Amino acid sequence: NSQHHRELMALHKKAADLYHHVLMNTRIGEPALDYLLSRGLTPEIIETFKIGFAPQKRDFLSQVFQNEQVASNLFNESGLFIQRDNGDYLDRFYQRIIFPINDHQGNVIAFSGRLLKTEDFSGKDMPKYLNSPETTLFNKRDTLFNFDKARKEIRKENTVFLFEGFMDVIAAWQAGITNGVASMGTSLTNEQIRHLERVAKELVICYDGDSAGTEATNRAIHLLSDHSRFQLSIVNIPEKLDPDDYLRKYGAESFRELAMHGRETVFGFKMHYHKLSRNMNNEKEQLDYVHQLLNELVLVQSPLERDRYMNQIAQEFQLSIHSLEEQFSQLKGEQR
Ligand code: ATP
Ligand code: MN
Ligand code: MN
Ligand code: MN
Repeated sequence: NSQHHRELMALHKKAADLYHHVLMNTRIGEPALDYLLSRGLTPEIIETFKIGFAPQKRDFLSQVFQNEQVASNLFNESGLFIQRDNGDYLDRFYQRIIFPINDHQGNVIAFSGRLLKTEDFSGKDMPKYLNSPETTLFNKRDTLFNFDKARKEIRKENTVFLFEGFMDVIAAWQAGITNGVASMGTSLTNEQIRHLERVAKELVICYDGDSAGTEATNRAIHLLSDHSRFQLSIVNIPEKLDPDDYLRKYGAESFRELAMHGRETVFGFKMHYHKLSRNMNNEKEQLDYVHQLLNELVLVQSPLERDRYMNQIAQEFQLSIHSLEEQFSQLKGEQR
């Protein structure tokens, strides 16, 4: 079994090297390399993450491995190929930018491939990102993108940044934030939380600023509050940008400032989150909003923090602290 694992890992390593070579040193890789450079990645960062390119040719990788007489059980279990009815193997990844996904020791165990030009493939069976299927090496629930490289800095800072996309992790790394990870295009799992809890006390959610990202942030807050002891904070990326977009638009310095000094508390996030679905010009909806915030305030443990928020709410809606406190104790009573 462990011999088998080693062979599968060697296969992935070899594939990663090939894809990377195609990107860096061949004409076929040029459009992909230009694209990545145009997105602001440096050759050094492409090297660090060993980004690659899978050519259009549907049997690029399978030809190489067949010439090397790789055993057919490895072929099947690698998840890198799709077998045709006639027995031929086709590459799973073609015409995609390739991000190797490592296990927590740094061995390549899977890939994620991004379409070069999403505009050309608006069809449903051409997803923007395509991941390796689950294999004996790759368990999605258990894997965090970049955890192998970020672990040292996560430990040192006692803090981990959680991003939505691989490109966000990579862009943040280039901007000097090297303690970032991402889940595998799905919501965070308990297994991933356990891994992170072992190395950090603080977790910063830094998801996309669009509505999907905001909803995902809200879900992550609840998941993490219920299933971890993390000190949570949230970076709210303005203008519905994602961290990578923000970096390109406003630069590394501005992003670092936002990520280090622009963090919100969970309650701070809730204050604007609960506004999003409401017409705040309507008096009844304003009161509903205050009511909902007071419900959230019950969860805030620190009396100082509670006092501060209570004052903020009172000021914003011209309510008396006294009435807020009365309503608050009532809610607290109900929730007990
Ligand atoms: P890019 O900046 O390259 O367009 P992104 O990282 O901003 O990509 P999002 O659309 O914000 O991409 O998605 C965030 C993450 O969700 C991606 O990095 C990827 O891991 C995952 N993801 C996105 N689309 C898909 C998909 N169609 N199938 C599987 N995973 C996906
Ligand atoms: Mn998104
Ligand atoms: Mn995004
Ligand atoms: Mn993006």
